[in-house]
Amino acid sequence: MSLWNEEQQQKLMEWQRCQHVHPFTCANRGDGRHPFEAEYGDHGVLRAGPDGWWCPHCAYTQTWAHDFMFHGAPPRPLWPDGVTDHRR
Ligand SMILES: [Zn+2]
Repeated sequence: MSLWNEEQQQKLMEWQRCQHVHPFTCANRGDGRHPFEAEYGDHGVLRAGPDGWWCPHCAYTQTWAHDFMFHGAPPRPLWPDGVTDHRR
């Protein structure tokens, strides 16, 4: 039996791709072998699979996610009008 079914994997990947919340990332992403991926807007963004998170660039895996992530990414904008997104 798998950890996450296809719908759960899809919801988690919506979170990873949405680019207005921080994605789950690989613990090894600073090693120079995790290129920036424009589709995800970051380095070492984890992919959701049936057995949990996996990294496309190394052997890192992770088996937990926040419960709220299974609902997919929150709608944009997270911030009310006039509030600056401090990540930029
Ligand atoms: Zn990695």
